[in-house]
Formats: sequence, structure tokens, C-alpha cells
Amino acid sequence: ERGAPVVLLDAGERPGGQYWRHAADTEPGGAYGGLWRRLRALTDAGRVDYRPGQQVWLVTREDDGGFRLETTPVHDGVEPLPGPVTAGKVVLCPGGADRQLPVPGWTLPGVVAAGGAQALLKGHGTVAGRQVLVAGTGPFLLPVATGLARAGARVVGVWEANSPLRWARHAPTVLRVPGKVAEAAGYAAALARHRIPYRTRTVVAEILGDDRVRAVRRAVLDGDGVPRSRPEEVEVDLVAFGWGFTPALELPLQLGVATRVDVDGSLVVAVDERQRTDVPGVFVAGEATGVGGATLSLAEGRIAGAAAAGRPEGGRRPRATVRAHRAFARAMHDAHPVPAGWHRWLTDDTLVCRCEEVPHAAVRAAHAQLGAGDARTVKMLTRVGMGWCQGRVCGYAAACLTATLDGRPPTEADLRGTAARPLAVPVSLAELAGPEEGPDRP
Ligand SMILES: Cc1cc2nc3c(=O)[nH]c(=O)nc-3n(C[C@H](O)[C@H](O)[C@H](O)COP(=O)(O)OP(=O)(O)OC[C@H]3O[C@@H](n4cnc5c(N)ncnc54)[C@H](O)[C@@H]3O)c2cc1C
Repeated sequence: ERGAPVVLLDAGERPGGQYWRHAADTEPGGAYGGLWRRLRALTDAGRVDYRPGQQVWLVTREDDGGFRLETTPVHDGVEPLPGPVTAGKVVLCPGGADRQLPVPGWTLPGVVAAGGAQALLKGHGTVAGRQVLVAGTGPFLLPVATGLARAGARVVGVWEANSPLRWARHAPTVLRVPGKVAEAAGYAAALARHRIPYRTRTVVAEILGDDRVRAVRRAVLDGDGVPRSRPEEVEVDLVAFGWGFTPALELPLQLGVATRVDVDGSLVVAVDERQRTDVPGVFVAGEATGVGGATLSLAEGRIAGAAAAGRPEGGRRPRATVRAHRAFARAMHDAHPVPAGWHRWLTDDTLVCRCEEVPHAAVRAAHAQLGAGDARTVKMLTRVGMGWCQGRVCGYAAACLTATLDGRPPTEADLRGTAARPLAVPVSLAELAGPEEGPDRP
């Protein structure tokens, strides 16, 4: 809308990212509906070359200062692009994925990430279980629990690791974002309507079952965030865990942008007030600059788009929104930290890395017997994070565990070591070999 020619590459097959997932046959409404129609009008007018279902697996900076993006379709039903995409500037908004923490029994079928349960529900109308527990920390547990209940699941509880009283000291910040207060009130009413018990300072200490989840055992956290187990079992067939999000930094890190550790302990891209990184021509918006919700991501996207087009933002609103929502996000992270003593619920044989089947005992031994004091060395000695997911699932937990064993908080270097990946998504050898050698490449 500011005159720049745009190519929009999205691994998603429909616009809207994580938040505005919708089934293929529905026309979205509300604020998103407006954006969706604007995108469609620009696409129809040939001003946006919209390429859904295309994953960027590599972005490189060319000698002339421009960028080259290699793509691969998300599945065989999507036509590959004829070649790499070149651009003078790139705006990266890769979002993030559910942050996961290992717990005894978490590899059993029936244990899912809260975002995964939500994606199945919103994208496909699939209710992943009949008797569900939603656990972890943060406000994102609420839409998952109420959404599943509305769709017919029996939600036996939301187990929140922190206490909502932690919000009290942030009252002035929260009141500056009245929409969030209304949202919280709506979820509280929905929990009551569906009779979903909301327990605070409560975590899952163990998941029980033989070939799938049968029950969970709970623990209550003491004042130091250390779990104190309760013997009783709660029967469930699905556990949805939400421990916040880990930004997806593969593409920004391929370009070598500067990063920082955010208040929630995530590695994020450092940007200025126009979403510029320290690499000329590279802009980053959304969860990759710090986890803070959909409104914040949208406002950052507006600023980044205008900046990349070399135009003003059009009013002060996006920046005011970013300021208010960034402050809200800081309050949220302060109110919902990952419990300091989470590693205390691990047993020796709890798998930390499920792809490479690396147990907790192996990580501890790498530190105690082999002197590994950082995440990268632990990775090389144990293969933690070297499997199919390349540390997307276990990277954060492995970095935190290693740092804890070493008696310090995780550093930027620890987190960069588990977030950087030379390929952002899996590709075939033919794609790696390049267009000349690739027999399947048009
Ligand atoms: C369960 C759940 C509940 C939530 N509830 C709320 C809520 O109630 N309120 C709220 O404000 N927020 C909520 N959120 C958070 C919200 O979804 C995010 O804040 C928001 O979606 C972030 O926007 P984004 O553009 O940064 O990333 P995303 O929405 O994740 O979008 C990233 C896009 O980039 C694409 N992509 C990623 N990597 C590549 C690649 N290599 N190549 C091509 N494309 C790529 C993805 O396909 C996706 O379309 C929730 C999230 C979850 C998971």
C-alpha cells in the first residue's frame, strides 16, 4: 500500500500466521477479515506476489547488498517456485513455537504442546482428547482450555505454575492495555461457564501411562519454585503444555543479526524503533523480536513494512501500540516465569532430547564427569539437540539445564548455540545441490 513491490513467502497455506488460523472454507471476520481482504485486493491487483505454502530454508546476503531466499514447498501438493527469490530488503516475521520443558512421561502419546492442540482445533476442527489437562504458565493456557471445552472436551483443569497475584505490581501497565483486561475477564467467565478448575502454583510432576497417557501426578510449587509432589493421580487422556514461546530465529541468525536475551529468557532479535536490525536492509517484526501477543506483532509488522518501503508509518498509533504492548509483555513475563526449580521434577531417565533419546542423567554426566559447562559442549558430547528437530523442542531446556548445572543463568551464547541452524527447514539433497543438479527442480 506504500508502493513497494512485495513478494510474500509464507510456510502457512492461508494468511494469518499462528493467531488467525482458520479452516480453508471460512471467510474470516473482525480485524483480521479486514486485513485479509486488503491482502487479497493487493494480490489481485498484482502488487503483492503472494506465495503460500513456501518455506524459506536459506536466506543469504549477496555482494550487491541484496538478498537471496531459497524456498521449498511445505508438501508435495504445493508447486515449487521456479528458483530462488531475490529482494533488495527483507522483513522477517517467522514467529515462534511452543517452549517445551521435559517432564517424566512427556514422550507418551497424548502429551502435546498447547499451541499444537490449538492449531489442530482452529485449523482442522480436531479435538485432540476427551479428558484434557492444560498446564504450564501464562495467559495462553486460557484460550486453549476454553477452546477445547467449547469444542466438547472435558477440561479437568488449568494448572498454572504461578500465582495471578504476581500481576498486582503491574496494575498501571496492565490498565494501559484495556483490551487485554477485557480478554482476561472473558476467559475467566468462560472457565466458570465450562466449570474448569483453575489451580495456581501447580505443575505436572509426572505423566503416567503404558502406551499412552492415562493420568498425571501433580506437584505444588513452594516459594522457591521447587515442586513438592502430591501422591494423588488425575485421570486424563490429553495433556497440553504451554510454557510460553521460543522465537524462531533461524532466518535472522543466517543473516548474522545482533540478538539479545529478553525478559522471559528467550533469545530475540535486537531491533530499533523502526524494526531495523544491525544488518542493513533486514527488518524483523513479531515474536522474533520478543514474545508479546498478536496485537504487538501486528503493530511491529506495520512499522517494519513502512520502514522497508522507505515510507512513514502513517500516524503515531503503531508505535504507541508497540510501547504499550511491549510494557504489557514485560509484565506478563514477570508474572509468568518458568519455575526456577523445574529441573527438580526430572528423573535420571527422563528424556531431555526425545529425537536422540538423551536422558537427563547423560546431560548431568557430561557436566559432572566430562566438564561440559555450556550447551554447545553438552550437545557435542551427548547429541542433545542433534536429531530430527535440531533442538527446536529441547534446545531451550537443554541450554537452561546446562547453565543450572554450571550454577548460572543461560547466556546469549548458550541460546544462540541452540537456536542457530544452517538450514531453517528440512530440504532434499536435490534442493541442496542446487538448480543445475536437482532433477526435480524446474
Ligand atoms: C495456543 C496459542 C494461543 C494464543 N493466544 C493468543 C491470544 O489469546 N492473544 C494474543 O494476543 N496472542 C495469542 N497467541 C500468540 C499469537 O499467536 C502470536 O503473538 C502471533 O501469532 C505472533 O505473530 P507473528 O507474526 O510473530 O508469528 P506467527 O503468527 O507465528 O506467524 C509466523 C508466520 O511465518 C511463517 N514462517 C515461519 N518460518 C517460516 C519460513 N522459514 N519460511 C516461510 N514462512 C515461515 C509461518 O508459517 C507463519 O505463517 C497465541 C498463540 C498460541 C500458540
